[in-house]
Amino acid sequence: KEFRNNVKPNWCPGCGDFSIQAAIQRAAANVGLEPDGLAVISGIGCSGRISGYINAYGLHGIHGRALPIAQGVKLANRDLTVIASGGDGDGFAIGMGHTVHAIRRNVNITYIVMDNQIYGLTKGQTSPRSGEGFKTKSTPEGSIESTLAPLEIALSAGATFVAQSFSSDIKQLTSLIEQGIQHEGFSLINVFSPCVTFNKVNTYDWFKDNIINLDTIPDYDPSNRLAAMTKLMETGSMITGLIYQNKERKSYENLIHGFRQEPLSAQQLALTEHEFDNLVAEFR
Ligand code: SF4
Repeated sequence: KEFRNNVKPNWCPGCGDFSIQAAIQRAAANVGLEPDGLAVISGIGCSGRISGYINAYGLHGIHGRALPIAQGVKLANRDLTVIASGGDGDGFAIGMGHTVHAIRRNVNITYIVMDNQIYGLTKGQTSPRSGEGFKTKSTPEGSIESTLAPLEIALSAGATFVAQSFSSDIKQLTSLIEQGIQHEGFSLINVFSPCVTFNKVNTYDWFKDNIINLDTIPDYDPSNRLAAMTKLMETGSMITGLIYQNKERKSYENLIHGFRQEPLSAQQLALTEHEFDNLVAEFR
């Protein structure tokens, strides 16, 4: 199963996004997918290019809109495994409304956020994930806004799978993506992915010094939502690993009544060709 293609990524050398691409490819192979069984839908930003770098169905969407497209793809063809991906600006700024409602809708897709805490593609502006005091071209005196805590928001919105990883920890990241794909519902995986060109604060070394791996915390129980929220708040959301999973709640597809089992893409039109032509004529 070959999820690599011949397209050479044009990310900067050392960008964290390379490891995320590799982890998605490994995870897809490890869970037994075939390239024609996977769709990767992305938004806009450096990270948005990822849909062109994986040998699978791919769609490079519009800014902040990866999730509506990905949910539509999944509902139209539930035989596909659907991964949506984008940056923290894409998903947690312009796309935040979609993110919250996708979380609570719980369609069975996996959302991987490549969180570099800056806008990289537009050459370095403050993002919702940038720390207070962070100096960029858009905040030369330092950011005075508080840093968004998307995983706390996800838990509040009723998320059934919340995880976080670091692009350098490809073993953990691959495992979490596998678990996300296999989770029956919406899985959110936030990945710290250093921007080596424009973010000189949140570097690889900075993350290594500040991350707390949940594997090192004895008796951490990812089925306990209150404990997950407490741990996020205690650590400033710097934990990595499987933070929360609810295996009881059914996905959107399994709750909706009257949903046909076969994908929309395989269904026959109930109209005759003549009726269809008449219907189209009404809208001309
Ligand atoms: Fe990666 Fe930053 Fe370069 Fe974009 S600008 S490719 S996020 S290192």
